[in-house]
Amino acid sequence: MANTIQGIRGMNDVLPQDSQAWLHVEQVFRNWAAAYGYKNIRMPIVEPTGLFVRGVGEHTDIVEKEMYSFEDSLNGEKLTLRPEGTAGCVRACIEHNLLYNQTQRLWYIGPMFRHERPQKGRYRQFHQLGIEAFGFEGPDVDAELIVMLADLWQRLGLTGLQLELNSLGNADERAAHRVALIAYLEGFVDILDDDGKRRLYTNPLRVLDTKNPALQDMAQNAPKLADFLGAESRAHLDGVRARLDAAGIGYVLNDRLVRGLDYYNRTVFEWTTTQLGAQATVAAGGRYDGLVEQLGGKPCPAVGFAIGIERLLLLLEAQGVAGQVAQPDVYLVHQGDAAAMPAFRCAMALRAAGLDVILHAGGGSFKSQFKKADSSGARFAVIIGEAEAEAGQANLKVLTGERQGEQQSVVLTDLAEIILAARTTN
Ligand code: ATP
Ligand code: MG
Repeated sequence: MANTIQGIRGMNDVLPQDSQAWLHVEQVFRNWAAAYGYKNIRMPIVEPTGLFVRGVGEHTDIVEKEMYSFEDSLNGEKLTLRPEGTAGCVRACIEHNLLYNQTQRLWYIGPMFRHERPQKGRYRQFHQLGIEAFGFEGPDVDAELIVMLADLWQRLGLTGLQLELNSLGNADERAAHRVALIAYLEGFVDILDDDGKRRLYTNPLRVLDTKNPALQDMAQNAPKLADFLGAESRAHLDGVRARLDAAGIGYVLNDRLVRGLDYYNRTVFEWTTTQLGAQATVAAGGRYDGLVEQLGGKPCPAVGFAIGIERLLLLLEAQGVAGQVAQPDVYLVHQGDAAAMPAFRCAMALRAAGLDVILHAGGGSFKSQFKKADSSGARFAVIIGEAEAEAGQANLKVLTGERQGEQQSVVLTDLAEIILAARTTN
């Protein structure tokens, strides 16, 4: 046999024993997004590289070292597997004129790609649920998004997530802060790591986002953006805070929360957990009022967030809250040539009546078929042997619940009705 081909490091298969949890959260996502008036949008996974360089920011980790970029071998175009969804969503909205004189509440879900060191909660292909709201400039929508996430945790049965909040102000406020910050950081050139030295003049705010323990004191005492905020930015933050208070959502103001993407202004937030080690952020987002214009659209205020689905699933697992697993109603056991067609027809009739049916395939003894029926999780077994087939009947056996083990002989034409009735009472 030839050598087997392995999947790519950091890009995972979701196997059948795990996919139920994915289906469950996706189902919850859909109902939840609809409940707040958000509509689904679907963008391509590949975009022109320039979209992310311009949209995410030239001096971000993502653009500097995490993108999967390549040249289209046919026409030489520079392309990138999307590392995040916001830039593509904005591109699509501009391209299809969705933002002109109108607001949009949008959500999307799908794989993202970043060339990072794979570890628990950090992968090279991972999945995000993204929400973006366009055309709203007030703090009410910022707060709505945060409230939505609190509601999502509740819908999923998650507890203990913490909210961190900050304001990045506007461009002028950041510029004034930047001058002070660069002057401060210049005093630490000797102890800055390579990343820090490189970013000192390109992206000094990100120097504070360091995970290097040796630099924590330096970061802690740096000039704070909060002290540079003007009246409007402060009022915006106060508006968000007032609504979080009204909703009873607690939060920590974290003036070092800067986010890894360049496009944010004013409100930024993260929901974190202490249960996933270093990969602590489950959802993160904020306001990005300048991005639409930066990508060639008419100015349009915007705010959004993304949830890391793998981290969400790890947290669900850590907290032992599993989604319900969808079980079939019936496992249909049959044996003998004369039973094959009646069993086939019976399965079709039961499905037409709205029941979920696994029709046994592949032969085998009654005993081995019953084993499969048990492990399928089905609530009922329908058994058709040659004698039942001849008589136009089946045996109905209850596999789970209080009446487990009960068995009765049923005329095939009555079977669906009897199971439907038993399903609601059993
Ligand atoms: P981190 O600081 O953990 O690298 P980030 O700031 O790069 O996160 P964002 O770009 O804000 O992350 O993405 C939003 C969310 O997507 C994160 O909070 C996280 O839950 C998830 N996420 C980001 N990168 C990965 C990854 N490589 N693997 C799994 N999930 C990820
Ligand atoms: Mg990152």
